[in-house]
Amino acid sequence: MSDEDAFDSDHMQCRHCGKWIYVDSPQCPSCKNYTSDLGEFDSAPRSDQRLPLIWVIAGWLALIGMVVPIVLAVYYHFRR
Ligand SMILES: [Zn+2]
Repeated sequence: MSDEDAFDSDHMQCRHCGKWIYVDSPQCPSCKNYTSDLGEFDSAPRSDQRLPLIWVIAGWLALIGMVVPIVLAVYYHFRR
């Protein structure tokens, strides 16, 4: 443990320009690029970190598939 650990908890390195910025700041004050939660892992590969759209859709379908039967069951339960 060192002082740098405490420093790292409040700051993260901008993925775009490498400047140290506050973790809470959504936008880098230096290069005006938006940061993300993944940005603090600066050593991580900078490949496309966006979630593929197909996974977002699949996630929603899975969520709907779970929620709709429950909602229908509750609906019919109270309707009777
Ligand atoms: Zn920056």
